[in-house]
Amino acid sequence: MKLSKMLIGTLRETPAEAEIVSHQLMLRAGMMRKMASGIYNFMPLGLRVIKKIEDIVREEMNKAGAQEFLASAVLPSELWKESGRWDVFGPEMFRLKDRNEREFCLGPTHEEVFTDIARNEIKSYKQLPLNLYQIQTKYRDERRPRFGVMRSREFIMKDAYSFDKDNEGLDVSYSKMYEAYHNVFKRCGLICKCVEADSGAMGGSGSAEFMVQSEVGEDEIAFCTSCQYAANIEKAPSTAEVMEKEDFNTIEKISTPEVKTIDDLTKFFNTTATKFGKTLIYIADKKIVAVIVRGDREVNEVKVINAIGGAVDFEMADSETVKKVTNAEVGFAGPIGIKADIILIDEEVSNMYNFIVGANETGYHYVNVNYDIDFKGIVGDFRKAVKGDKCPKCGDLITVDRGIEVGHIFKLGTKYSEAMGANFIDENGEAKPLIMGCYGIGVNRTMATVIEQNHDENGIVWPLSIAPYQVIVIPAVMKDEDQVKAAEDIYNKLAEMGVEVVLDDRDERAGVKFKDADLIGIPMRITVGKKIKEGNVEFKLRNSSDLEVLSIEQIFERVREEFLNNQLKL
Ligand code: ATP
Ligand code: MG
Repeated sequence: MKLSKMLIGTLRETPAEAEIVSHQLMLRAGMMRKMASGIYNFMPLGLRVIKKIEDIVREEMNKAGAQEFLASAVLPSELWKESGRWDVFGPEMFRLKDRNEREFCLGPTHEEVFTDIARNEIKSYKQLPLNLYQIQTKYRDERRPRFGVMRSREFIMKDAYSFDKDNEGLDVSYSKMYEAYHNVFKRCGLICKCVEADSGAMGGSGSAEFMVQSEVGEDEIAFCTSCQYAANIEKAPSTAEVMEKEDFNTIEKISTPEVKTIDDLTKFFNTTATKFGKTLIYIADKKIVAVIVRGDREVNEVKVINAIGGAVDFEMADSETVKKVTNAEVGFAGPIGIKADIILIDEEVSNMYNFIVGANETGYHYVNVNYDIDFKGIVGDFRKAVKGDKCPKCGDLITVDRGIEVGHIFKLGTKYSEAMGANFIDENGEAKPLIMGCYGIGVNRTMATVIEQNHDENGIVWPLSIAPYQVIVIPAVMKDEDQVKAAEDIYNKLAEMGVEVVLDDRDERAGVKFKDADLIGIPMRITVGKKIKEGNVEFKLRNSSDLEVLSIEQIFERVREEFLNNQLKL
């Protein structure tokens, strides 16, 4: 391809709306353009990267024995009503009606569709195991679309669904996907960690996320400093700090006018946040849930939702509700006498001595409070794990980092097959529900994440495996016929070899061409300049500052060598 004929659209300025590097570079390198909030058009260069990631995914899925399928994106509401998710999905689902007022949605995920296909197509255990996948556009009306295609409202997902006759079979299907995911991300040049994920509310028996450590990640991962343990913070257990033993003192009510926050309280009582019990109030499907954690801790909402057996709607209570439940202004909530349907007490709080809590009365707190003596509730692990907690596997220290979730694998079990009656006939002629797994990879998010991990101040540094083009040939001076002729010859020969090559034949200065080549991130650059008189050209890798002067004959071997170094065929 010749650049003079190509729609490139590189930008010198960073668009103001883009906060993170990958978003900025995808716009500046002309990979995509925004159409509406969280909705993007892919330009030719960007689409090439998308297609390469899809090809890698497709190869690894096929190798793992999965079969490609393509479902519609317009899904009838009936299927979702069968599984019970029509109401559960809430505002994240794009809903629409046809001319006859029939309800549909734009598929945010496809468990229902594939369960429906399975119940129609799978009759006998002889057809199992089966794994169907698709690479398809998903729609989610995200509350906060942001960071470009990291969290968009329309995105490409590879989703796969496995069907087995028993749990042992599911274990095998799951581990094949686990392996395939590792291969996919490695081939895309990503360094990622597989972390344990929460599966509580979805009702499955195991789940893992593929996370790339990054400051811009929206997830937090807890991982052990000595062993292999790693988990999403939603799932990671916390360890209750053992407090120094004290004699129980008698509870006392103290006037604390205008002292509401933990900060105000530590100053007022001249002590640390560890001496307080903090009460947070939530509304879970109309039930009031009070959660008490130590003053310096954060509530882990996923653990709370799991502890109360799941909740469709779960949010912090508004101030009106807080006032009703505590009989006081906001800032004085406490566990003693609170009008909550469920009281959850973090284990750590149950081990504290003579601590301070709100008195459920405006302007008052209790001091010398002790669990079991002054109040009761359900004790468990309800707080977020933090750096310094103990590893549940080996007991060493946990540390916490941010991560981007690029993939998710999930043992669903029979949740959907039972709800939707997807059965098969087993060896004994009995009807049994199919045992399912589901597996997702965000294709566009993977692309953005690769840029987060592979860029410098000049632009994107694509790994050879997914670069839009592999080599760029630049004639330095377009008026110099020898340079242009040699560049064209090299370009033609590389194309013949099967290299994805572009020729920058634009009538621009060499400096402009270098800038664009770097911004777009093409892995190999061949410059045909003055040295062509001696039969030499310059070769440069995007990820190195070395300039290699090579003869025209050597250049083809050098390109070949790079393919070999990257374990790619040519
Ligand atoms: P998140 O917690 O980030 O919203 P999720 O748990 O909702 O992700 P899944 O339903 O497991 O995501 O979807 C599978 C994959 O699809 C994710 O691992 C991610 O790579 C991708 N993905 C999910 N939501 C989006 C989105 N809004 N934009 C881009 N990619 C997404
Ligand atoms: Mg989501």
